[in-house]
Amino acid sequence: MKLQSGGAWQWFFALTRGFRAWLQGPSGLVVAVGSVVTGAAALLAGVFWITAQPSDDSLDIAEGVFFEIATGSVTGTYYPLGNVIASIIAHPAGSVRCEEETRCGPPGLTPAVQAAEGSVSNIEAVHDGLSASAFAQSDVVSQAYNGEPPFETPYTDLRAVSGLYGESLHFVVMRGSQIESIDDLRGRRVSIDRRGSGTYGVATRVLSAFGLSEANTTLVHESAEQAAEMLLAREIDAFFYVAGTPVRAVQDLTNLNLVDLVPVEGPEVNGLIAREPYLTAAVIPDETYLDIPEVRTIGVTALWIVRDDAPFELVYQVTRALWNPDNRPLLEAGPEQARFLGPRDAIEGVPIPFHRGAEQYYLEAGLLTED
Ligand code: GLU
Repeated sequence: MKLQSGGAWQWFFALTRGFRAWLQGPSGLVVAVGSVVTGAAALLAGVFWITAQPSDDSLDIAEGVFFEIATGSVTGTYYPLGNVIASIIAHPAGSVRCEEETRCGPPGLTPAVQAAEGSVSNIEAVHDGLSASAFAQSDVVSQAYNGEPPFETPYTDLRAVSGLYGESLHFVVMRGSQIESIDDLRGRRVSIDRRGSGTYGVATRVLSAFGLSEANTTLVHESAEQAAEMLLAREIDAFFYVAGTPVRAVQDLTNLNLVDLVPVEGPEVNGLIAREPYLTAAVIPDETYLDIPEVRTIGVTALWIVRDDAPFELVYQVTRALWNPDNRPLLEAGPEQARFLGPRDAIEGVPIPFHRGAEQYYLEAGLLTED
C-alpha cells in the first residue's frame, strides 16, 4: 500500500474539514474540535493518513495510521459504540494488550471516532474519502449502493466490514399529548432529524405512507438531543429517532417519566415494509425504557462500512479484533447494544458486498462459505 505522508497537507485538510463542519452547526463543532486536534497530532507526529488514498494489499505502517469512524450524535448509540470499538482496534506502540496478535488492529492504528449527522452524511464521507469508515443504516446503504434517492449516482465503492445490531424507529411524544398513532400527527409539529441522518429518510417514508408531508404537518429538522429539549419546552409535538435501544437521547426523557413511545404499526406500515426490503417489523421490548411497555415499530440494521480501496490487511485485522472472544469484556462494558453484538450478526442484513478483508475473516471463521 502506498501511504501518503501526513504533515502540512494533512493539517490543512483536517483544519478545513473541521471548519466546514463547524459552519454546519453545533453538532459539527465536535467534529471541528476533533479534526483540529487530529490535524495537530498529524502535524506533530508526522503520521500517515490512509483515508482517501488508493491502496494495494500490503500494509506497512511504520509510523501509524489514523482510522476514522464516523458515527452519530453523542447521545445516540453509534457514538458510544464507536468509542468501544475504537478501544478494541487501537494498537498504540508498546500496548501489552496487543501483544497477542489477533487482539487489536494493525500496529500503529489510531482510531478517530467522529460525531456526525448520521447515515447519509457518513456514507457521503466514506465515498468521498473524508472518513475511512462509518456506521450507517442498512436501508440508506442500500439506497447509496443502488443510486436511489437521496443519492444521485450508485456508490458501488461501498463495502461492509460488519452488520452490527438492529436499530428501532422511536416515535416520542409528551405523555398526555393524545398522539396515539402516526395519523394523529396531522397538523402537528414534528422533528424528523437532519437531512444527513438516516432517521430523516425513514421518518419521511413513514409519514408519507400515512399521507403526511410538509403540506399538512410542520416538519422540523433537529438532532434527537435538540428535539428532546424542544419537546420538553413544547416547541414541537413529537420527534423521530432511528437508533439502537436503549438510546440515551430517549432514555434521558423516559427517566423523567414525561414522555411516551408511540407504536408505528398498521396496514400502512405493513405496506411500507413489504415495499422496502431493508425495513423490518421491530419491537422495543417492555421496560427497555423505564415504565414504557412493549412498542411495535420499524427496524433497520446498523452496519459498519468502508470503501473498497481500504487496505486488505487493515480491514482483515480490524474485523478479526472486533470479533475476538478475548475482547468480549471490552464490548460488554460498552453501551447495551454492544453487549449483545456477536459475530453471527455480522453477516445478517447486509445489503452490499463485504470488503475483501472482512470476507476473508468470515470465511476463516466459518461464518461465510465460498460459493
Ligand atoms: N441511525 C441514525 C442515523 O443514521 C443514528 C443513530 C445513532 O447515532 O445511534 O441517523
